[in-house]
Amino acid sequence: MDFSVPVRVQELTRRVRQFVDAEVIPYEAAVDDHEDGIAPDALARLRAKAKSEGIFAPQLPIELGGLGLTLEEIVPVFEAAGRSTLGPLALNCSAPDEGNMHLLHMFASPEQVERYLKPLAAGETRSAFAMTEPAPGAGSDPTMLQTSAVRDGDDWVINGHKWFTSGADGAAFLIIMAITNPDVAAHKGATLFLAPIDAQGIEVLRRVPIMGGNDPGGHCEIKFHDLRLPASAILGEEGQGFALTQKRLGPARMTHCMRWTGIAQRALEIATRYATERQAFGSALSGHQSIQWMLADSATELHAGRLMIQHTTWLLVNGNDARQESSMCKVFVAESVNKVLDRAIQICGAKGISRDLPLSRWYEAARAFRIYDGASEVHRMVIARQVVKQFGGDAAR
Ligand SMILES: Cc1cc2nc3c(=O)[nH]c(=O)nc-3n(C[C@H](O)[C@H](O)[C@H](O)COP(=O)(O)OP(=O)(O)OC[C@H]3O[C@@H](n4cnc5c(N)ncnc54)[C@H](O)[C@@H]3O)c2cc1C
Repeated sequence: MDFSVPVRVQELTRRVRQFVDAEVIPYEAAVDDHEDGIAPDALARLRAKAKSEGIFAPQLPIELGGLGLTLEEIVPVFEAAGRSTLGPLALNCSAPDEGNMHLLHMFASPEQVERYLKPLAAGETRSAFAMTEPAPGAGSDPTMLQTSAVRDGDDWVINGHKWFTSGADGAAFLIIMAITNPDVAAHKGATLFLAPIDAQGIEVLRRVPIMGGNDPGGHCEIKFHDLRLPASAILGEEGQGFALTQKRLGPARMTHCMRWTGIAQRALEIATRYATERQAFGSALSGHQSIQWMLADSATELHAGRLMIQHTTWLLVNGNDARQESSMCKVFVAESVNKVLDRAIQICGAKGISRDLPLSRWYEAARAFRIYDGASEVHRMVIARQVVKQFGGDAAR
């Protein structure tokens, strides 16, 4: 086992941390003032600075303007960026664009690369991934997909209803999951399409109001009314929608975990500082055992989460499917980050609840970590199926 981090990655991590502390964190105070969390001109300035400092898009290949790091190498870099929710935005490695860029890099045609990926990689545009549907459509169970694409001559005509499409308001394009062959099992009959947001037939109904969410482009409800797309709008091949989505989601779950660890680590630092400075009952709070145990539990869970991220990314980089490990990691990190934030607020008392600290905002945002990209219960189901299978049983219904 070699847990050492290459020197150039350590160096980059240090520079990203410095950039986030000095340039990004000052913008946090105004997150509540803007529906995107940051004004577009301020974000453009931060991105230009990140480019000039050579820390922009660490996950992207060099030919797309990135730093060419592997999934394993980005672990500490993304954590450093994630110390502020605005950090990954400044570096163009935030969800959903980061996962969408990864997907396009793997499967886009040369024309799609020029039209969609290059401007996205440069930080000039935003994107959105439209899979989830309101009931009775696909949510936790993607095989319930209702959005349909029907062939008409050389075109496809899409009708359907999506919601929680993150970033759709103001995005340049959508990646849409639709059923193209209703006669086979859904995981073989779905296809991904690329559609410019201004295409006729796309109606962005609203940003769904949510807790903790001043995110660029919101989380949108969308309807497709006879959206007509050419065959060249298909991403990958017809019928590959589920397979491609899995290729996106595996690494994307890991990058979520890396960024979430960044805010959790900072929450622990904020709580520890408060506990060492604030006096109560004759000593600093940090002198009381119940406070020490909270700090200890948070530090331990952060350490365990980091090891799970390291191991799972190592498996993925070495060509393993790592389905079970990425589910374990996603459940553990999503839940432990919620606990770390909860303890940090408790330690900071009323100040923790206030907006003087970022903890309350992160606490609101972190609740969704246990739901999106697979609810904890669904990941536990995946893990349990494997556990039962190892004993010759069958946990699938
Ligand atoms: C902030 C946010 C951003 C999002 N961004 C996107 C996006 O960009 N694109 C996109 O397509 N989707 C997005 N989603 C949607 C997200 O992926 C879904 O919410 C998630 O897959 C769960 O689907 P659902 O909400 O329909 O829950 P449902 O399927 O209705 O399930 C409800 C609850 O039932 C439980 N449950 C489900 N299945 C099981 C089971 N087998 N066993 C036990 N319990 C179970 C879980 O607790 C789950 O939370 C986003 C969601 C949020 C909150």
